[in-house]
Parts: sequence; structure tokens; C-alpha cells
Amino acid sequence: MNQIRNKTKIVATLGPSSNDYETIKKLVLAGVSMFRINTSHGEKEEHAEKIKIIRQVSEELNQNIPILIDLQGPKIRVGQIPEPIEIKKGQEIILEHTDEIKDGIIPVDYKGIANDVTVGEKILLDDGRVGLRVEKVIDTKVYTKVEHGTLIKPRKGINIPGVQASLEAVTKKDKQYIKFALEQNADYIALSFVRKAEDIKCARYYTKAYGDKEIPIIAKIEKPQAVENLKEIVKEADGIMVARGDLGIEMSPQEVPIAQKEIIRLTNIQKKPCIVATQMLESMMEEPIPTRAEANDVANAIYDGTDAIMLSGETAAGKYPVEAVEMMSCISNKVENSQFIKTDYDIDLIAELNPISQAISSSAVNIAKKLGASAILIFTETGYTPPIISKLKPSVPIIVFTNSEVTARKLSLYWGIYTYVDKNCNSVLDEALFNKIDDLLIERVGFRKGDDIVIVNSVPKLMTGTINTIRVHKIGETK
Ligand code: PEP
Repeated sequence: MNQIRNKTKIVATLGPSSNDYETIKKLVLAGVSMFRINTSHGEKEEHAEKIKIIRQVSEELNQNIPILIDLQGPKIRVGQIPEPIEIKKGQEIILEHTDEIKDGIIPVDYKGIANDVTVGEKILLDDGRVGLRVEKVIDTKVYTKVEHGTLIKPRKGINIPGVQASLEAVTKKDKQYIKFALEQNADYIALSFVRKAEDIKCARYYTKAYGDKEIPIIAKIEKPQAVENLKEIVKEADGIMVARGDLGIEMSPQEVPIAQKEIIRLTNIQKKPCIVATQMLESMMEEPIPTRAEANDVANAIYDGTDAIMLSGETAAGKYPVEAVEMMSCISNKVENSQFIKTDYDIDLIAELNPISQAISSSAVNIAKKLGASAILIFTETGYTPPIISKLKPSVPIIVFTNSEVTARKLSLYWGIYTYVDKNCNSVLDEALFNKIDDLLIERVGFRKGDDIVIVNSVPKLMTGTINTIRVHKIGETK
């Protein structure tokens, strides 16, 4: 069973600083709830090795840990120039799609560059460190002037905020990694540079075509077009990532905090998991403690109502991967126990609920609050009700009993949910099952005899059918 600790989940990206067995184990013990594999770097064999280690560690530590395969998406890059090129403000720079090294030309790996840009448009390179303005387009060449920046480095990313209209939503490489994610039984895939709901439908088409399986798709919101089409994207996707790295380049840094609040709000309404990502504890790449501003940023994402917070470079390539997770865990713990955290949300805020689920979920949260219960315990096979209860943000933990490992791992990303798998648990809620629950809650969770637990389940079949029953159980009393 997943350890009951912070309600906010921590997602850690693996990379050279953390790919080994020992570090992965330490990261889990420090509080990681989900691992992210970034397919922008590394080869399939390396990723498969990491997945093997995660599954092994999960089993050893008895935890249900989901794996997210993050697809690179249609990222445009500077081509393979032999060495960095010094530039200065006002200088003319010519961009062209070519594989060759040509004098006076910066090669770009995107075929459509000359067709897609218009005069006056801004082009940003290297996470916005270089800014160019389009002056003219002649045939395949894009003539620009440097607005800021000093160096153009090989293979750095290019952002063209207003366009990318003709870029495909799912690239050839993404398709290969969708296949890989299905073969590896990954729990989520993340789709980069989503612009509209159809992009998610397109990725879903490939998950079905390649594996005839449902794999939840997390849409990364990192383009202004995605913010414009947010409602439809949130409805279509199975989860959302506030991908602030590219979002802060494609829009501007001052727009990100407001976008973050709105993205989280809409995602919560649709009862889907939300992850806030990028630069949360960036300075911990080099230092053992974060800046005060970073601690505040983590706290504010939790106050905004996110399910999960994510570490990227900090755990993938930083000097202090384990300390970064410990720090996130400490900040979450403080915030979740502060007087400013909002709990017990209004059920009417949550979209498209059937009346029975609505009544049962809100009543379970109310009963737990009135009784000062220790937890809400839900029996589920498909995992339909736990996200609803999670979105109400009860102040008590939500313990999910399920017979499905896939459901357990998927739900482990949600705020406040801790999962337990019992493959044989498909019977009625009888004395033997109550005894099992009591033993588990006393031994593994540290609850005591006499503690109240609010149990939510379906009758007549415990694991299947609509959840229709609430029962208060006192630990130690089976009658
Ligand atoms: C981001 O841009 O914030 C992000 C998470 O995307 P990437 O995969 O480029 O890190």
C-alpha cells in the first residue's frame, strides 16, 4: 500500500542524476509518487531499463507507482552547427531548413519554417535566451534581426509563439514512443505542444491502433493556442500538465501565474489530475536548498489546487535529486497543514456527475468531517469515484481498495489518494474483510482501534457497479 504522507503528489523526472536503482529507491522513500521519463533525451533501451528498476523498487517497497512517458512532440530545433555562433543586437540572421552546413545560414530542422512565419513575427531560441524578429522571407530563407541574445548553440529549441500551424501533433518519434509506452505498460503518456482537442484525439487514435488499449493522455499546456482552447482540451484529455517552461517562452512569464490558476481550476472541474511543472526548485540543480521564491512557488501551486508538482532538471540532472524531493515534501506538508489550505470543496463545482455519485461523494466527505474520521475508504475496480472525492479535497486521506493494479497506479497521481491492491477482493464487505482492513490500517497506516473510517462501496458487488453505499466503520468493531 502507498505510504500515507503528503496529499500533494510529487512527480520526479529521471535522468543521469537518478537513473540507478539506489537513487530511484531513495527518491521513492523521500516521497516520489510518479516517475516521468522524458523521451526528448536518451534511447529506448535506457528508458526500458529505468522502467524495470521502477517496477522492481515499487514491488520491494510495496508501492503503486505510476510511470509517465513524456513524448517530445513537434519541437523545432537549431540544426547541427559545428560550434556556437556569437551574435549581437541588430545583426541579420538567416534561418533555413537544411541538413547542410552553409556559410551565413542557421540550419533549422523544421521543413515548414519559411511557409509558417510572417514578417514582424518573433522567433525565440534556447528557452528565450535569443530573440529574433522576422524581416523578410525569400523562398526557403527567413531573414531576421537579433533583438536580444549573444550566442546561438547547436540543437537548441526554437519557439515561434504565433505559429506551428502546419506541424503534425504526433511526430514519427512520438508514434514510436506510444508503441513503447504500450509495450511497457506505462500508466500515462504526456503529449507535448498540444494546440487543440483534436491533437489528443490523434494521439488516442495511435494508442488504440497500436495496442488496442486505453492509456491516459496528459495534455501539456505550453502554447498560447492551448490556453485559448483550454476548455475543449481539458474535456478531451485524461489529465493536464501546466508546462511552464515553454509556456513562459511562448506567452510571457507574467502570464504564467494567471494561466496556471485557470488551468488548475478547469482541470479540477473535470475531475482530472493536474501537474504543475518546471523550475519549481530550479536552484537545487546546484544548491542543497531552494530560494525563498521557489518555496513560495511550490506552496502557491498547492494553494491553487493542483494534484501534483513536478521536478525536471532537479532530479534528472541536478546535484541534489533526493534533497529536492525531500524539500518538496516538506513544503507540501507545511502548506497542507496550514490554515490557508482550502478543503471540502463544493460538489456543485464538479462537472457532469450522475446524481448518485454526486450525493454519495459529497456525503462521504461531510460525514468524515462531522465525525472527525481518520480516512475515507473506497472500494473500486474502475476507479470512477475516487477522483470525484479527491477533487472535493477532504482533510482526511482517501484510501482506495482495488483489485486492479492499473487502477491503483493511475489513481496514485491524484491529490490525497493512497492505493491498496487486493487481487482477490471481489466479495462482500464481511467480517473477514473488516478484519483485513483493520489490520492493514493499524499495522501499515498507524490508525488505532476505535478510529472511525467512512467506507464507500457498491452493493451487491463490492468492486463493480455504481457506488451506492456509505457506512461508518469503527476500527476493531466488525459487527
Ligand atoms: C515545460 O515546457 O515546462 C515542459 C515540462 O516541457 P519539456 O518536456 O520541454 O520539459
